[in-house]
This record gives sequence, structure tokens and C-alpha cells, in this order.
Amino acid sequence: MTTLAGEWAELLARRPTFREALEPLGGVLAAWHSWPSGAITPLQCPAERARAVWSEGKPLAAIAAPSVSPEQIEPALHPALDILAGLEDMRDFTAAWNAGDVGPLSLLPSDGRPGGALIERCHLTQAAAAFLAVAGLRPLLTAWFAGCRPLMDDGYWDLGVCPCCGASPGCAELLEDGKRQLACHLCDMRWTFSRLICPLCDNRRSDDLVRLIAEGADEGYAITACGSCRGYIKEIDRRLRWNAGSAIVEDWGSPHLDLIAHRQGYWRPIPTLIQLTCLSSD
Ligand SMILES: [Zn+2]
Ligand SMILES: [Zn+2]
Repeated sequence: MTTLAGEWAELLARRPTFREALEPLGGVLAAWHSWPSGAITPLQCPAERARAVWSEGKPLAAIAAPSVSPEQIEPALHPALDILAGLEDMRDFTAAWNAGDVGPLSLLPSDGRPGGALIERCHLTQAAAAFLAVAGLRPLLTAWFAGCRPLMDDGYWDLGVCPCCGASPGCAELLEDGKRQLACHLCDMRWTFSRLICPLCDNRRSDDLVRLIAEGADEGYAITACGSCRGYIKEIDRRLRWNAGSAIVEDWGSPHLDLIAHRQGYWRPIPTLIQLTCLSSD
């Protein structure tokens, strides 16, 4: 099985011009790769229970958050802290983390925003909090919710946040049958979502929904943006990109598309490196 770290190496080989700029993310992927996922006992949630929770519009994390010590997720958090050092004042976060005032569960999404609780508490930007959450929690939440993926049949969840962890989508994929699937960068869950609705604000006015399609070497990638909330996510058309890597690898590896969206005045809920390093101040 190809690992994310392996896919990442392949992507950088395919896009050598980004190699240097994206290099810091390699540390995050390496930390995930060596994270001891086998030590986590996946959540056992009967299908009826999951569907009852979903029918109330709640993600599974609302009833069953994983129990984990700060020390367990620190190896995954450190590369993200290294990236953020120098970009943002992380002292309040570090002090609160070391004092035990905030911990792994503080990184879970609130109102769709990963690490949302840290924004005010530790004076972080939304982008920094979300990046920390993705880096720190992904291997844990992927292992924790591993058994819940088969429970997600179409029809049980139609919200624009992840049915497992509650995060806003990281990316979207168009499948063979033309359906759109949203992908969660925090827990690797996928769920079907209408192509005619903005997942970030539930806007259904088709005039407002913009699809910027890449051409040439980037055929098969698109930016789907909303004129109402001005949010966007990337979309990978798997019919044209059958050999593309995992959603998060393709997303992190295409910063030029974020630049296009940013220049048109759009924002995204889950940052990639470029939002942290060069787009945060303007
Ligand atoms: Zn999730
Ligand atoms: Zn919207």
C-alpha cells in the first residue's frame, strides 16, 4: 500500500518547481508515517447509534472523542510548530499546552473550525489553529474513526462538515459516477455532497457558485468557490486524474491553485502551507 509519505515523494518528483517551497511539509508527513497508529483502538460505534447521531446533525466526535495524552500527539505536532515558529507568535499556545490548560481535544473542530477553541484562548490565527489541528490530530483521528467509514452510506449525512470529526472539508473529489465527495483532512473521512450547494455556507444559488477549471498540465483540478461566503475548496476530478494521489497530498501539492483563488479574493477553511507563509498578512 502506498503511504502518504510515498505519495508525497512522487508528487514532488512530478512538480519539481515546488520542491523547495513545499519541503517543510515533508516533516509533517514523516511524523504521521512514524506515528504509532496501531496503539489506538478504533471507536466501536454500532451503525444504528451512528445514524441516530447523524440524524441530529452531530458528528461522531460529539459523542465519542478519543482519549489520548498530550505526549502521544506531540511527535505529530512538533513539525507543525517548527513551521509556525517565526510566522506567528506561538508562545501562548506553548505555555498553555505545557501547563495542560489546552490539550489534544482542544484541537478538535468547533463550528467546523479545527482548533477553533485555540484561536481566542491562545491568540492564534484561524489558519495556524487549523494547521496545528490537522498536523497533530490526523493520524490519531484516522485510526480512531477507521471503523466508522463503512457506516457512511449516502443519505445519512448532508452537511458540509465531516460526519466523524466535524471539520470543514479540506478538498473535494469527483468520482466515476460524477458524484462529489468531500474529503476531511483531519480524519480522512469522505462523504457525498451535492455539487450544487456550497459546503461552507449552504448557499444554493447556482449563479453564486463558481468553478475555475485548470487547463493543460493541471487538467482535472478545479477551484470551486462561492460568491456568497467567498470560500473555496479544490476539486480533483478522478475521471481525468485516475492516478492522482490522496486528497491531502494533491491539495498540499498544488499551491499555485491557491494563489489563483487568493488573487480572486477567496479564502479557504483549512489552510495549506501557502496560507501560512505568504498569504496570511494580506
Ligand atoms: Zn473528519
Ligand atoms: Zn459559500
